Amino acid sequence: MTPSRRTAGALGLAITLLASSCGSDNGTTDVATENTTVETVDAGSADGGTLTGIELAQWGDNVEVTVDGESFRYKSNGLPNHELPDQFLVPNEGNMPPFDGDDISAEFYIANTDDLIVESPVDVEITLNPVYSDEITLTSLSTIGVMISGAPLFNDYEDMSREFVALDDNLSLDGAYFIDACNGHPLASGASYHYHGVPYCITDDVDVDGEHSTIIGVLLDGFPVYGPKGADGVTLSNAELDECSGHVEATPEFPEGIYHYHLTEDANPYSIDCFHGEIDYGGSTGGNAGGDAGGPGGPPDFTDAAATLGVEVQALEAALGMPPFDLDAAAAALGVSVAQLEAALPPPPGAGG
Ligand SMILES: [Zn+2]
Ligand SMILES: [Zn+2]
Repeated sequence: MTPSRRTAGALGLAITLLASSCGSDNGTTDVATENTTVETVDAGSADGGTLTGIELAQWGDNVEVTVDGESFRYKSNGLPNHELPDQFLVPNEGNMPPFDGDDISAEFYIANTDDLIVESPVDVEITLNPVYSDEITLTSLSTIGVMISGAPLFNDYEDMSREFVALDDNLSLDGAYFIDACNGHPLASGASYHYHGVPYCITDDVDVDGEHSTIIGVLLDGFPVYGPKGADGVTLSNAELDECSGHVEATPEFPEGIYHYHLTEDANPYSIDCFHGEIDYGGSTGGNAGGDAGGPGGPPDFTDAAATLGVEVQALEAALGMPPFDLDAAAAALGVSVAQLEAALPPPPGAGG
């Protein structure tokens, strides 16, 4: 149980953050704290407090970050604060990955971004005291982390079986792309614009030449995530990182070193496919980073439920968010009844606990 939280803002102590680089229009956002104990947190120390990074992160104006003792709450409308292409290539209904690209104009349509993309509010609470675990937990589809731009980070895959890597499955038609130059795209419904790899329109803004990448977000386990640059600004490859694309080293926000993740650009995984921090994530842990389909562990499989409801798996996961699920809100977002949703969902792991 978390302690009861006071209404955001009511007792807020606004901390104005210093932009660590460039006067970009990303700007910075006040971190409103709800109690004054934050000064006692030993942030950035080797034992893992992340408050320093949360304070230094260049949160977009569309992001509201509220520190509450042991955790912080991230709220945004889900829309990225950077430019998007005018159009996206969107798969027709029923056209699921992998895309063969044989007849793109028959299997996809070109949507105007303004008509396609819809707000998809993100509201999550994340610990400020992440705990590294030897056991890994596979990341699921849908939101695995929150980014300074206001849009979420997804893992590499477009499917629960972890076969179809989004960035390796990109296509274009008449200049419209399935995945944009920022390594992001919305779901086919237009909801939940998300990244599957290095979000260059964020990193280009915040990274500094010759230095380790700058914090661009936090994963749901509480550990921070960065672009591809390691010490001295040298681009990291997957081979230099652990099975969850992480390592321990000094970063601009944590000069004493901290476990953190890197998005990489050489090969899959581009995004983060497992958590190395403790996380309550469907009640099970992954056996290995390979993500053997159907193996034990990992988050619940919503493939059948999505098929029953006639929605994309990602849309279902996005609507459900993190457990405990708000079924009323999820059903409303999906356009189904609560009863239909309940009937379709698999039983929760450890039911009765
Ligand atoms: Zn995607
Ligand atoms: Zn690093």
